[in-house]
Amino acid sequence: MVDQSACPFCVIVAGGDSSARLVYRTQEVTAFFPLEQATRGHTLVVPNRHVSDLTDLNAVEGRDLGEALLRAAHAIRSALAPDGLNVIQSTGAAATQTVPHVHFHLVPRWSGDRMVLRWPAGAAEDGQAQSQTLAAIQSALFNEVSVVGPEDRRQHLAFIQAIITRMSQASSSSKAWLLPIVTATYGYAITKSSIFVALLGLLAVLVFGVLDANYLKQERAFRKLYDEVAAGRSIPAFSLNPALASPAGSRVNYWPDWPDIRSWAVAPVYGPLLLAGMGIGAWLLYR
Ligand SMILES: [Zn+2]
Repeated sequence: MVDQSACPFCVIVAGGDSSARLVYRTQEVTAFFPLEQATRGHTLVVPNRHVSDLTDLNAVEGRDLGEALLRAAHAIRSALAPDGLNVIQSTGAAATQTVPHVHFHLVPRWSGDRMVLRWPAGAAEDGQAQSQTLAAIQSALFNEVSVVGPEDRRQHLAFIQAIITRMSQASSSSKAWLLPIVTATYGYAITKSSIFVALLGLLAVLVFGVLDANYLKQERAFRKLYDEVAAGRSIPAFSLNPALASPAGSRVNYWPDWPDIRSWAVAPVYGPLLLAGMGIGAWLLYR
């Protein structure tokens, strides 16, 4: 784990550097002026998460960085009207990376400006060596394990969908079980004036209500996991742990939360049954 307080870009992302000139910030990326600008308008675009190597970025961060670069380039072009623009990313000391937090330089260019960028003349490899290099890169592309292929993702989504379907079936069947129980107990309580059976019916409504609200809570957690996997976020392939989709540190327990209880699938069904049971109980007690 990297000490993020030691990383100047993490400090800027966290809003801890009051001298930083922030261009803009989203959920995933931040754009700001570097301390020493190479040219007028020189801007850095970084992922908010501390990642030192370009290849450690996840697919969502990659997409958001691409969008942010495009957006900043448009803004720089319309605000400063440069003659040209360089996008520069350096990973590793050999590539002149100095701050170990992935960053893209957007460098507006004017003819004759003070920026120096020199491409060597001639090719690095001859034609035969190039073919070997090409084959090596292409075979690595197909063996890349860190990127989940579309087929695996579809299968992963199908597994999650199956769980969501099962949760909603369980919710329907808990309602289907409860209705005859309530009809029988409440009916018996009224005709035989039995407060005990009325309480039994009430207990059944409570138990089934909590069960159903919990099914709903699990269903929601798995829907969130589904969305995260579909969006290409870094969920391990074929993981069915919905906690991975919630913010770090939060855990999915088995007690329904208030939003689950008051949801349309729970409160309007169990609420009236609960009130009816209490009404019958009160009537039996005070008539
Ligand atoms: Zn950092």
